[in-house]
Amino acid sequence: MYTDCILGKDYFYQVIEKIAGLIEEKRDYLTELDAAIGDADHGFNLSIGFREVLKKMPEWKDKDIKGFFRSVGMTLLGKVGGAAGPLYGSFFMKFGEPGSGKDEVTFQELFEMFKQGVEAVEQRGKAILGEKTMVDALRPALNAFEKAMKENLEAKQVMEAFVDAARQGAEATIDMIAKKGRAMRLGERSRGHLDPGAASSTMILEVFLDCFPF
Ligand code: ADP
Ligand code: MG
Repeated sequence: MYTDCILGKDYFYQVIEKIAGLIEEKRDYLTELDAAIGDADHGFNLSIGFREVLKKMPEWKDKDIKGFFRSVGMTLLGKVGGAAGPLYGSFFMKFGEPGSGKDEVTFQELFEMFKQGVEAVEQRGKAILGEKTMVDALRPALNAFEKAMKENLEAKQVMEAFVDAARQGAEATIDMIAKKGRAMRLGERSRGHLDPGAASSTMILEVFLDCFPF
């Protein structure tokens, strides 16, 4: 299964370029979400980070997949302020690990990449499901990926299940009370708002599907 589904460096470059564009496009929307339960900087923070990634990307084109994502992650870590900087920085730094010494990965390895990325976010932020954070989008997405692969769905359908679960997970943060991050201070008043990090991470995962070549 999935033996024909090989993803090259060009896929990952395209994904990062597209994420950068999307963050720019959704910058004000993400910042508005953060204005409701945070400090109104989430879209702004991410935009600064991804602009820098876009600027530096040409320097990374000879790197292997691991090296490429390490650079993406380090750049985000260095440039993105707030909680999201270290979280997305860790995500991308770990995301590339299974691509060590490689210019292409298998679909199974793509799953491993997401697994390492999501686990890195969980380890760094110590958030679990239901705490109204990006983990509420990322963890269900990862679980859905694994489940869909076990059910032998086609690669494209696996990616769709992955993104659907992220969307549903993000949507579910609306009814949650924040237990982590800045929004935690609002307590009950954090309810009724979509979590900005869950929204941005869903957007990021959607790009992996949009660019998916199969
Ligand atoms: P800050 O809250 O420092 O201003 P951002 O506004 O950039 O940082 O990012 C806020 C988002 O970060 C939240 O919406 C939430 O999804 C995410 N977040 C905050 N703390 C954590 C955590 N401990 N674990 C996972 N995600 C978190
Ligand atoms: Mg903020």
